[in-house]
Amino acid sequence: MYDVKFCPQCGTRMEEREAFGRLRPVCPNCGLIFFRDLKVAVGALITNGSNHVLLVRRAVRPEKGKWALPAGYMEYEEEPIQALKREVAEETGLDVDPLRVLDVFPLHNPYARGVVIVYEARVRGPVPDVVNPEDDVDEARWFAREEIPWEELAFESTRTILRRWSENLVS
Ligand SMILES: [Zn+2]
Repeated sequence: MYDVKFCPQCGTRMEEREAFGRLRPVCPNCGLIFFRDLKVAVGALITNGSNHVLLVRRAVRPEKGKWALPAGYMEYEEEPIQALKREVAEETGLDVDPLRVLDVFPLHNPYARGVVIVYEARVRGPVPDVVNPEDDVDEARWFAREEIPWEELAFESTRTILRRWSENLVS
């Protein structure tokens, strides 16, 4: 299970060796051990104050065309809350403040493994009725509980968070 064929530091062909408890790619020349990194994504449950939740339709893989919470990967130099605010702004133009962490889910798709941290977040200032999709999404809109497109949700984490949210609403 090689992640890299050549040493990212010196270019020598990597060898599979025991290192820190398992076989990993190790450089026989400079000794560099290659650790496969996990990815961290952040997502936001954002509501409008009248029992509608904000979902975005993904315009990129994976799960292109399906609805999800505004979300994305942390950049290397970011902290989680910075990443959350940036991703929400990039996808919807909204400025949000995180309120609390709702849950942490395993993340696994064809391109990455890791975790997704889902926050509850609140829009700063007046909440707009119409949200313009930007960046990696082609639609963004508010959904009432009975409008949630359960058959067209992107990720298990999206589904779980929305199910909990809709069950906790006062009917
Ligand atoms: Zn090397």
